[in-house]
Parts: sequence; structure tokens; C-alpha cells
Amino acid sequence: MSAVPSERSPSERAGSGRDPSVPSDDADVVVVGAGVAGLVAARTLSDAGRRVVVLDKGRGVGGRLATRRLGEARIDHGAQFFTVRSDAFERCIDAAVADGAVAEWCRGFGQADGFPRFVGRDGMTGFAKWLARGLDVRTGVRVTDLADHPAAGYVLTAPMPQSLAILAWSTRLPDPDLADRLAAFTYEPVLAVLAALDGPPALPSPGAVQQPDHPLFTFIADNGAKGVSGRPAVTFHVTNAVSRARWDEPDEVLLASLLAEGGPWLGDARVLDAQLMRWRYAAPTTVWPATHLVVRERPEPIVLAGDAFDGPKVEGAFCSGLAAAEALLGRLDA
Ligand SMILES: Cc1cc2nc3c(=O)[nH]c(=O)nc-3n(C[C@H](O)[C@H](O)[C@H](O)COP(=O)(O)OP(=O)(O)OC[C@H]3O[C@@H](n4cnc5c(N)ncnc54)[C@H](O)[C@@H]3O)c2cc1C
Repeated sequence: MSAVPSERSPSERAGSGRDPSVPSDDADVVVVGAGVAGLVAARTLSDAGRRVVVLDKGRGVGGRLATRRLGEARIDHGAQFFTVRSDAFERCIDAAVADGAVAEWCRGFGQADGFPRFVGRDGMTGFAKWLARGLDVRTGVRVTDLADHPAAGYVLTAPMPQSLAILAWSTRLPDPDLADRLAAFTYEPVLAVLAALDGPPALPSPGAVQQPDHPLFTFIADNGAKGVSGRPAVTFHVTNAVSRARWDEPDEVLLASLLAEGGPWLGDARVLDAQLMRWRYAAPTTVWPATHLVVRERPEPIVLAGDAFDGPKVEGAFCSGLAAAEALLGRLDA
């Protein structure tokens, strides 16, 4: 995958006067989803000479790589960091580090284990923005029916229930057995509490604790120590079980009680501002036994990808997006 943008930026295209939600007539491929999987698929297809349009319902790129402002603080509220194992992802991250978009944060929490943990320099969305450079990405576009977005091929990278809804609308559902297997896919939710502080929290170096067996918070990080925020600001991730059990409670109730529970990690710092975020599709509970899935061969191939196919991590989404793009290229070239 090339790290060098080869096309005009989305903002350069914005002045074209076209309806941004409708791909140009000459789009070869429509990619649904501007998370890691979709952006990597789009880059790979674009580098292979295809005209690609990426559509995402969100306000910006990144999907579960998500960074937001809270007062003067910047806070990652989805993925907190990523590790690198495969050669392809390593090449991409080396280029992102060289461009200043990604940096190593630490080598573990508590006891360092030697594996680098990477973060986007300006927050995790920064990595997504780097992947998106030069691509034709149209945000604020919720895809329901693929027929509204004509193309020679499609890559769908939304979480499985959302991709299945698109396939159902488009009456392009795979055969009933396969549709049942895909419909059986479930996801675990995560509640996230974001808090901007007036001073540093009580978190050990490197500014975070990872505690998979804790009954309430699996991960707590100071975005200031991480280098994402100029001001101290903490992210608390709530366990899947508690997130599921308390999902329907109002934001203000959850915020007050979770902040109170988080007190020991805040130390003497005062909360200046706080917000509750909800990830309904935080992590797939199972992983499809292949990197991608071709749900339709012709006339216009449709390939499914995302972290449900190669593991519920940033690297899994990356590898799946890459594999889906290669699978689609093989079919478009045939
Ligand atoms: C709370 C949390 C913590 C995490 N922590 C880590 C971590 O520390 N390390 C790690 O490696 N991974 C972590 N992950 C997992 C990681 O974020 C994901 O595996 C990865 O980002 C998934 O990328 P993706 O491209 O497959 O999907 P997504 O990022 O979900 O992208 C899918 C995109 O599709 C769009 N979309 C959906 N439906 C439509 C539609 N109808 N029309 C148009 N667009 C649509 C969405 O808006 C979204 O942008 C975490 C995730 C969460 C939620």
C-alpha cells in the first residue's frame, strides 16, 4: 500500500457542485465505511488505478478510531492504541510514523512486555485521516440501498448487522444459509466515560491501566500522558458485561455513577467537563474464519470486510480491508 496520496483531497473536490452523496458515473468501486478497513481497501484499490468513492454515515473518518474535543482537551474514546504483527501493517505504520501521523506510546501497561503500542499523534482519528489523504471520501452519507450508488464493485466494511441491512435493502442477500450465519453475528457494547480534568489523574506511567479482569473498567487512560491532549483528560472504558446490563440507563445517571466509581483513578484532579459515549458495536463476539467474504460474484461483486473477519482490533480491520480489496481487484480484472 502506498503512503503517498495520489489524488485530490476531499476538500478540493468539495467545490465541484455535485451532490456529494452520489458517486460520479465513472466510479469503479464504492466502499461503504471510512474506518480502517474501508480506508485501506480504498487506498489499495485506488493505488491499483481504480476510481474509488468511500461513503460513511459519520461526520468524519475513522469509525471506531475516534477522537473528540471536550473543552480544551482532546480525547480518544474508541480504540486506545494498536499493536503491529503482520508485515503489511508494519510497512504501513512505518510510513505513518515517518510522516508524523503515528507514534509509539509505550511498550505495555504495568509490566512492559516489549511490544510497541502505537497511537495517532493527534489522536487515533489522526491515523484514519492519514489513511484517507487524497481519497474521495464523502461523509454524512448513510447507505441503505447499493442501487443508489452505482459502481462496478463494492466493499462493505460496516459492522455486520449494518452491512446485512444494506444487503437486505439492496435485495442482494447471500443465500439463506449464509445470511443466517451472518445474522448470527453479535457484538459486545462498550460505554465510555470522557472527563476533562484540571490536573493530572492518579494513573501510573505510561498514563494508563489495562485491567481486563476488573469488574467495572477494563482500560483507563490519560490522553495528556498519551500525547493526544494538551490538557489532562481521562477515558474510562466500561466492561462489556456492565455496558450491556446498564445500556438503557440515561446518560446523566450513568455519567454520575461511573465518574464516582472512577474517583480513585482521578486522584486530586477536578472534573471540568464530562461526557458519556456509547459503542453499540464495539467488538464482534466471534470472528469469521476468513479475512473477507465475497457475497456476490456478479454482475457487480460485493465483498464484506472489517474487524469481524480478521480479529477485533485495528490490525484485524487493516488486514481484512487489504484482503477484500485484493479479492475485488481480481474479480474486476477478470
Ligand atoms: C471502545 C473500543 C476500544 C477499542 N480498543 C482497541 C484497542 O485498544 N486496540 C485495537 O487494536 N482495537 C481496539 N478496538 C477495536 C478497533 O477500534 C476496531 O477493530 C477497528 O477500528 C474496526 O475498524 P473497521 O473499519 O472494521 O470498522 P469501523 O471502524 O466500525 O468502521 C465502519 C464504518 O462504517 C460506517 N457505516 C456503518 N453503517 C453505514 C452505512 N449504512 N452507510 C455508511 N457508512 C456506514 C460507520 O460510520 C463506520 O465509520 C476498540 C474498539 C472500541 C469500540
